[in-house]
Amino acid sequence: MSRILHPFHGGIRPPEHKRHSNGSRIGSLPLPSQLVLSLRQHIGQPARPIVVPGDTVLKGQTLAVPEGRISSALHAPTSGRIVAIEPRSVPHPSGLTELCVVLVPDGQERWVERMPFDWRTAGIEAVAQQLCAMGVVGLGGAGFPTHLKLGSGRGIETLVINGAECEPYITCDDRLMRERAADLVAGIQILRTLLRAQTVLVGVEDNKPEAIEALQLACGGADIEVVALPTRYPSGGAKQLIRLLTGLEVPAGTRATELGVQCFNVGTVYALYRALEHGEPLISRIVTLTGAVARPGNVEALLGTPLDALMQHAGADDGVEGYLYGGPMMGFALPSLAAGLTKSGNCIVAKSPALFPPAPPPMPCIRCGDCAQVCPAELQPMDLYWFARARQFDRARERHLFDCIECGACAYVCPSHIPLVDYYRHAKAELWAADAAGQAADLARRRHQARQRRLEAAQQARAERRSPHAAPVPAVTSPAPVVLPPPQTDAPAPLDEKQARIAAALARAAARRDGAGQPPAAASAQPVADEAQPVADEKQARIEAAMARAAQRRAAQESRR
Ligand code: SF4
Ligand code: SF4
Repeated sequence: MSRILHPFHGGIRPPEHKRHSNGSRIGSLPLPSQLVLSLRQHIGQPARPIVVPGDTVLKGQTLAVPEGRISSALHAPTSGRIVAIEPRSVPHPSGLTELCVVLVPDGQERWVERMPFDWRTAGIEAVAQQLCAMGVVGLGGAGFPTHLKLGSGRGIETLVINGAECEPYITCDDRLMRERAADLVAGIQILRTLLRAQTVLVGVEDNKPEAIEALQLACGGADIEVVALPTRYPSGGAKQLIRLLTGLEVPAGTRATELGVQCFNVGTVYALYRALEHGEPLISRIVTLTGAVARPGNVEALLGTPLDALMQHAGADDGVEGYLYGGPMMGFALPSLAAGLTKSGNCIVAKSPALFPPAPPPMPCIRCGDCAQVCPAELQPMDLYWFARARQFDRARERHLFDCIECGACAYVCPSHIPLVDYYRHAKAELWAADAAGQAADLARRRHQARQRRLEAAQQARAERRSPHAAPVPAVTSPAPVVLPPPQTDAPAPLDEKQARIAAALARAAARRDGAGQPPAAASAQPVADEAQPVADEKQARIEAAMARAAQRRAAQESRR
């Protein structure tokens, strides 16, 4: 009996353009002359390099370790020499640079020792650590570190494996399911055991009949249900796929695990299998090379392979006017091909005017409501557009802007050709920046207040110590023994006493000197005058005696006349 499906709201059916690239086996390409490996290969914190320029490394050797909770390791995709760790272009619409490890291959492909991991007995936490150390992240586009999705191992109701691959042009998952179905099913069985999932559902759009058949064959008697889904974009969105397969709605702000469901992309499951069963870190991925190229197809490329090497391999046409990283709905225009391939790089589309005619200029919104009809998140895209355009970002948030999965279905049907998703991305970026600034200001304010409290407490403690009425400070609260200055008394120190005597003698000498001329200053003359008094009296007596003798001589002379 076939499973009852639960269609999600909206969705579109754009031209698939999958036949361009899904008709040939997964290929490979020669070793490039250098690999440029961004340290930011996933959502969260970039990895921290543990090699330096000049180091020689083996294939699979760890180049950078996880930094923080949401992070993952990075490994050497081949053996060779590290020639630089410096800012380089990365696949991003901004064209900004990120710190990258630049590796020159030696052509010898010498591996580190690879050891299978005993996931059956290791316990869920140890398995999570191993996947983190092996650099396994989501390969469906988002790049969320896989180890964070394992949970506590308490068990879930349903494990959903995402093989929908609903976006036009992209066929890497299709080829993976066709050519490596047995390994993929082995990975699904590992996840089923680790998560203790009761039901396992693999969703694949019905435009991939070969992949569905290959998986069904590989599953054999295993209790895994491979479900053919109606081809409708975006059935590969995690919430849309869960809804389709289980009927469960994952409300905004809720994780699927809270409803007993966990969802993994098929490429991620394959990488998990290689990491645990073969001890191989994530060093390569399958990437679709398509659009205006001579040799469209899929290749398994080493991470860090320059994008221009990939496009040369595919034979880009002369008329190419640009490149998309990802598909035409959720991908973005590449500013250049100088960057290296990343873990989330599932497709490169070469754009030509024939395949991608220039969009007509945007016209005013006519409130037709077509965008709301197709929105799989059941939003009102035209309202979000108006609020974003009017810079009323908080009102856009109130209208559930962050439930938008940026699928582009609204813009696809808009008769006014408004680039709606650009407005939503801009509004989200503004809100994230405002939130980050608010958090930083809040942190600064709380730190300032804490400092003020510390200063006031210290000031009060000092004031209490100085107060004569202060209670004795308990020994336990004394910060340190207080060293008091020596007690001050009125008695001069011996040295001071000697100095005073010298000064007094000098003053007396000065007074004696001054006694012959000018009078000494009153304040300082007093002790000198006291000591000089006997000298003055003696002199006066001598003067008076001389005057008496002179009077006697005059009296004698007068009596003789
Ligand atoms: S589809 Fe375009 S024109 Fe119509 S309501 Fe939405 S934004 Fe406006
Ligand atoms: S891009 Fe956002 S608003 Fe537009 S249809 Fe998709 S989910 Fe809805």
